[in-house]
Amino acid sequence: MKKIIDSFLQRGGACLVVCILLLLLCLPIWPEAFSQVSKEQPFKEVETLAQQIQFPSHSPDREIGVTESILNNDAQNAVSVHYPVIGLKQVDAAIQEKIQSILSEYQDGLPAEAMDDFSSSLWVDYSSYLAGDSIASLLFRVEKNDSTMSHPDVYVFTMNFDLAQQKLLSLEDILQGEYLLAICDYTREYFSHTQPYQAYVHTDAFQTGSAPVMGNFVSFTMNDKALTFYFQKNRIFPGYLGVVSISIPYSELNGYLKVDTTATLLQIAQASGTISSQLSSPVQNISIDPSRPMIALTFDDGPHAKVTPQILEILKQNQAKATFFVVGNRVDSYTDLIQREYMEGHEIGNHTYSHPLLTNLSADEVIYQTSQTDQRVAKLTSYTPKLLRPPYGAINTVMESNIQKPFVLWSIDTLDWKTQNKTKILNEVLGKVKDGDIILMHDLYPSTAEACAELIPTLKAQGFQFVTVSELLAQKRITPVAGHAYHLAR
Ligand code: ZN
Repeated sequence: MKKIIDSFLQRGGACLVVCILLLLLCLPIWPEAFSQVSKEQPFKEVETLAQQIQFPSHSPDREIGVTESILNNDAQNAVSVHYPVIGLKQVDAAIQEKIQSILSEYQDGLPAEAMDDFSSSLWVDYSSYLAGDSIASLLFRVEKNDSTMSHPDVYVFTMNFDLAQQKLLSLEDILQGEYLLAICDYTREYFSHTQPYQAYVHTDAFQTGSAPVMGNFVSFTMNDKALTFYFQKNRIFPGYLGVVSISIPYSELNGYLKVDTTATLLQIAQASGTISSQLSSPVQNISIDPSRPMIALTFDDGPHAKVTPQILEILKQNQAKATFFVVGNRVDSYTDLIQREYMEGHEIGNHTYSHPLLTNLSADEVIYQTSQTDQRVAKLTSYTPKLLRPPYGAINTVMESNIQKPFVLWSIDTLDWKTQNKTKILNEVLGKVKDGDIILMHDLYPSTAEACAELIPTLKAQGFQFVTVSELLAQKRITPVAGHAYHLAR
């Protein structure tokens, strides 16, 4: 018994000594620790938010939400609607309500009875950004088309949410003071010095549409650097210029901005494992200068164990972006390469599942060929390829009405698969290449990688920018439509 008591006293004694020592150690920092309690409160809120919000499994560019799609592959009435699910109940309900209203409006516009020679399509896509820690900023592009229209009906709409409050934000919630005057001045100044807009700044449409009234600036998005305003097609400039946007850096809005645009939420989400941190190393974002020539390099048939990493390395060294049209049945064998392509800021396009001549296939087979690749890529990256490159460039009406993607062809064919010769590949491009070209190559042959090692720095020195196909289309103000083919340049 005595032994037990002794041992207890010994342990208790040791404990007491440790406690006193700890207390003594803590004393000097006590007041500081105490005063930090109030500061840490917002941090806790952000932490809770980070656990609730859905990020794409790798979120390179402060992208937020996972994609949900509504698809209808009916040839007469094609619907392809993509929208984000953020993970917050009220925010998601507001987004879904808006999407439903677009769908209903589209359906109400259809003829009451099916007509043989009438077809129509609805395409909705989005970009989502996280601005600061508590604002989700969504930009939707809507494109409606039918066989009676000469041009598709295109417009954008935006939604900005305070994530902590789960409420929609208007411009008044974000800016204060005489901000409308400041935005109006910046907009007029910018467009009067920018081609091709400056020719139109004296029109009534521009003067009225850029005046300092709230109604002119209702469509806006935010990211961590700037506030961007969107003007609908035909609103301030002629229709051929499409939807026009202007980004105002926060540094130009000093004193007007009343929300916090500094960010810790994404880091917290990464740290807590909501997003894989291995795959979330930030992508170096290229800023595209619309006044300089740009081209889209495209690589088909990959990934390839040796050639694809070589090409990725060359692209990285030159800060160049490209588009990889991958074959679905190779995706699962090269998961790391698919993820690397995605994480390094390249676009992943769909080049079917097993590379058949699609024009020989039935509607069901065509759908299978595209959906299988989509699913495999989406599983690895949370990104669903938006563009299809048909094998052999072959397209028919079955594909046009059953594949809910634009078809991307090319304006320069390097014939790299045929010659497998660096000099010949270079000769197909250098001297011919011009702004807006889409260049066809294959990441299968060592000679293609060798040619890239020379081609990319050479064209870069000539002032060319290397962009993805989607970036090229956006820069050239082309809204891609499902079932249509795009070559660019020529
Ligand atoms: Zn191919």
